[in-house]
Amino acid sequence: MVKQHDIVIIGAGAAGMMCAVEAARRGRSVLVIDHAKAPGEKIRISGGGRCNFTNIHCSPKNFLSDNPHFAKSALARYTPQDFIARLAVHGIAWHEKTLGQLFCDGSARQIVDMFVTDMREAGVDLRLSTVVEAVEKTDAGFAIRLADGAVVAQSLVIATGGKSIPKMGATGYAYRLAEEFGLNVTETRPGLVPLTLDPVRLSEWAPLAGLALPVRAKAGKGAFDEAMLFTHRGLSGPAILQASSYWREGTDVALDILPDLDLAASLRQAKKQNGRQALLTALADFLPRRFAEWVVADAAMPPKPLADLPDRALEALAARLRPLTVRPAGSEGYRTAEVTLGGVDTGGLDSRTLEAMTVPGLFFIGECVDVTGWLGGYNFQWAWASGHAAGQAA
Ligand SMILES: Cc1cc2nc3c(=O)[nH]c(=O)nc-3n(C[C@H](O)[C@H](O)[C@H](O)COP(=O)(O)OP(=O)(O)OC[C@H]3O[C@@H](n4cnc5c(N)ncnc54)[C@H](O)[C@@H]3O)c2cc1C
Repeated sequence: MVKQHDIVIIGAGAAGMMCAVEAARRGRSVLVIDHAKAPGEKIRISGGGRCNFTNIHCSPKNFLSDNPHFAKSALARYTPQDFIARLAVHGIAWHEKTLGQLFCDGSARQIVDMFVTDMREAGVDLRLSTVVEAVEKTDAGFAIRLADGAVVAQSLVIATGGKSIPKMGATGYAYRLAEEFGLNVTETRPGLVPLTLDPVRLSEWAPLAGLALPVRAKAGKGAFDEAMLFTHRGLSGPAILQASSYWREGTDVALDILPDLDLAASLRQAKKQNGRQALLTALADFLPRRFAEWVVADAAMPPKPLADLPDRALEALAARLRPLTVRPAGSEGYRTAEVTLGGVDTGGLDSRTLEAMTVPGLFFIGECVDVTGWLGGYNFQWAWASGHAAGQAA
């Protein structure tokens, strides 16, 4: 006999588990299906194993979407404070790092365990290592054919995430299913991803590999003041990951080194105060020494004291750094991207419930929707908030 549930959720990740707990607490019978061996694998590896689970400054402006208003409703009804209150119930300690980013004191696994406990206590049925073969709309809801049987449900929630990190089982399943049901899917791209450089630029910057320094990275409409890391493949670090979500192939990224300092004025001042000082020593007051060495060598500046360098030479040197424009060759792609930009078109979804407007009973939540957060806990906050919204309605 085919087992009947009120709700079937495909995907036991951040959004799917939140949705399951909320729906089951309303008395709905819920089955969660995942093809992975364990639930919440991305939670477990996130934030360097400590999970940057939310951001206290979360607001709709921290998200990219074709419709910047879409996320407002769900985000307003489930806030970072709501998630913090949930952690408190389970005694999970946390701390704030920089820029409002909240991390577990202990391990990200505590958050996975919290959801597993909450799902068990609410009576959610969790089936792992289970492959969905087909989904069909019926008069009563949905028929879901599994590799090892079949289930039917009144509501079907798709929470299978995006395409990032295929090694962890990311499949892009939600996009295919959305299209099967006639929903539009906006262009998908890797986001929060390191950028690669062409061989010429790479060899030019080879001496800088492994070096991090604060920059203002600008791409498209995004501008971020954070650390940038030179790598053997190109550029990474939070500033670049953030900018990557706004970057498009064939366009430049502007890197403003020392964005809040007038370097030319500072070097002229240093020359006035201590003209015997070497240019490199003066520069190293403002920049990491390795970077300062590279700047001096790259500009072929003579190894002279400041007093022997005309002001215009100091000004020309400072001008080389502001802004440093680079045209990335590409990105590292889904292999290392933290998120997938784009996805199920919000135009086809109800922003209060995440239900498909043309397919009653079908919901899309989490990363598979065309709502993508900045780096810093915003993507989990969207997963919690959208999962919560659907959990109240499905
Ligand atoms: C390395 C890394 C670190 C990250 N760190 C952070 C962080 O610190 N803070 C933050 O806010 N965000 C972080 N993110 C982003 C965050 O993990 C995601 O945005 C979030 O997990 C999305 O939640 P989701 O529930 O939509 O999808 P997921 O968490 O990806 O869950 C999807 C689930 O669906 C299952 N699934 C997929 N396809 C199928 C299928 N066909 N059949 C059955 N099941 C399927 C998967 O196995 C998975 O369990 C990080 C991402 C990565 C890759």
